[in-house]
Amino acid sequence: MRLLFSMRWLLAAIALIIAAAAITVSRTHQPRRLAPLVADFSVGGAAPALSGATLPALTGTLRISVAPQALPASASLDAITAELYTALAYVSARTGTTPAGPITVQILADPQCALHGAAYTQSREVHVTTCAAIPPARAVNILAHEFVHQLAHDSYGDSHLRSDPILLEGWATWGAGHYWLGQHATFRDFLGGEAPLPLVANHLGRPAAEMNTLYYQWASFVEYLLVTYGRDAFDQLYRSGNSTPGSADYQGVYGIDLATLEAAWREWLR
Ligand SMILES: [Zn+2]
Repeated sequence: MRLLFSMRWLLAAIALIIAAAAITVSRTHQPRRLAPLVADFSVGGAAPALSGATLPALTGTLRISVAPQALPASASLDAITAELYTALAYVSARTGTTPAGPITVQILADPQCALHGAAYTQSREVHVTTCAAIPPARAVNILAHEFVHQLAHDSYGDSHLRSDPILLEGWATWGAGHYWLGQHATFRDFLGGEAPLPLVANHLGRPAAEMNTLYYQWASFVEYLLVTYGRDAFDQLYRSGNSTPGSADYQGVYGIDLATLEAAWREWLR
């Protein structure tokens, strides 16, 4: 009887431990709220042909066109132009790069209301695809990231076109700063210790949420490299990739391989 009584307590204790573990697992697996971004890709090829139905608003560095139905009817083109200049000035200061020439901005309408960005850095053109139901500020957030791709090409030259995607997208996301951080001060803060995906991963073809997670992880890794080893070494690293994730010469630049750097970054995140 006494043994049975003890067994009951033991089983109850085990059940409690399992329940606590299940709660912990469900808490750690809760998706973090991400900033309002959906997807992005950066390509070096030619921009696709556009329909002629755009409204140009040319001002200095930025040559902005807005397609019909791309923005809410209440949106002011002057206000969006001012916001895009503010975004360009911000990312330019944050990355220490000034544009090497004018940048064409195409604000396009997506019939499915999907938010996407693209940078055609050889032709100095950035696109955002949005729709009238999406607040224009979200398109500006995307374009801040695309501007950094253009500035990266301006800064690193053609080596930008074959850079390691970890650095290419990490730099564009880090460079967009508060446009992607919301109320968080740093990408380390944003991640809050959670980095569920490996750094060496392909971002293309992933669901938007996973792609976003990867971009934030890569931005945080870039932040770690900048804080730990400085900008000059980062610049050297950025130029050394060959288009595949993990291809930059981490060992040559830092004397440390990527797996060891990733482990150190994950420790730094905690
Ligand atoms: Zn990008």
